[in-house]
Amino acid sequence: MSLNPPGALPPAPTLREALTLAAIAGIPALEARMLLSHVTGFTRTQLITRDNEHLNIAQRDAFATLLARRLAGEPMAYLLGEREFFGRTFRVTPDVLIPRPDTEVAVEAALAHIAGLKAPRVLDMGTGSGILAVTIARERPDAEVWATDISPGALMVARDNARALQADNIRFLVSDWYDAVPEDLRFHLIVSNPPYIAKGDPHLVEGDLRFEPLDALTDHDDGMSDLGTIVAGAARRLLPGGWLLMEHGYDQGEATRTLLTGAGFAEVFTARDLAGHERCSGGRLPG
Ligand code: GLN
Repeated sequence: MSLNPPGALPPAPTLREALTLAAIAGIPALEARMLLSHVTGFTRTQLITRDNEHLNIAQRDAFATLLARRLAGEPMAYLLGEREFFGRTFRVTPDVLIPRPDTEVAVEAALAHIAGLKAPRVLDMGTGSGILAVTIARERPDAEVWATDISPGALMVARDNARALQADNIRFLVSDWYDAVPEDLRFHLIVSNPPYIAKGDPHLVEGDLRFEPLDALTDHDDGMSDLGTIVAGAARRLLPGGWLLMEHGYDQGEATRTLLTGAGFAEVFTARDLAGHERCSGGRLPG
C-alpha cells in the first residue's frame, strides 16, 4: 500500500496514528520514530508515553513531507539534518558527505599519532562537514587545527559545526588541496578523507550516495588521483617526523602504501575498519 502524503493523514492524527500510517507506507519503525520526534520535538520515549496526543496541522504536513522524501530514497541524515560521529552530533546538509563510522578509524589514528605532542599543528584537507577537524580539535583543545575544503558551501557547514560544538581552535580555508594553505606553515599531522571512488563506479548511483555531493565522493578519475595529490604535496608541508594519514577504499590499501613509500615516507601502515577492511593508511616523514 502506498501513502499519498499529506492526504492519507487525517487533519490532526495522534502520534500513534501517524506512526501506523508510516508503517503502512513501508517506512521502518525506527526511521518513522526518528522523523516524528524530529517534527514534534518529542523524545522517542515521549512518542510512546504520549501517543494519544495530536499533531497540529504544520507537524502533520511536515511529517507527511518527510515520509514522502524518505520513500523517494533521501538519506535519513539529510532529512534529520544531523548525524552522530565519535559521540557528537554534527549538522549535515546535501553540501557535505554524510559522516560514516569508517572515518572513526582515521580519527583514532590521528589522535594516536599526536598523543605525545604538546600543541600539535594539524591539517584536515577536504573537511566537508568538519568531522575530522572538529573531533580532533575537541579531543585535543591544545591543538592548532587547520581545515580546508574547495567547496564554500561545505566550509559553511564545517564552521557551523565548529561553533555549535565549541571547537574554537580551528582555522578554515577555501582551498584546492594545498593551494591556499600558507606556504610557511608546517604541520605535525596531515589527515584527509578525500574523494576516492572511481568515476563510473556503480555505487555512485545507488542508495544514499545518489544524494551526496559527487565531488566529495569521486575524483572523476581512477579513485587514486586525489590520494596521489595529497601524498605528493605532503612532504613540503610536514615537519620532519610528521605524519600523513588518509582514508581510502577497502581495496586501495596497497596502492596507497605504494604512493607513500614512493614519496619517501617511512613507517607506512594501514588500519582496518570495524568490518575488517583496510581503510586508513599513513606514513611518517623521515627526520
Ligand atoms: N572529511 C569529511 C568526512 O570525513 C568529508 C570527506 C569528503 O567529503 N570526502 O566525512
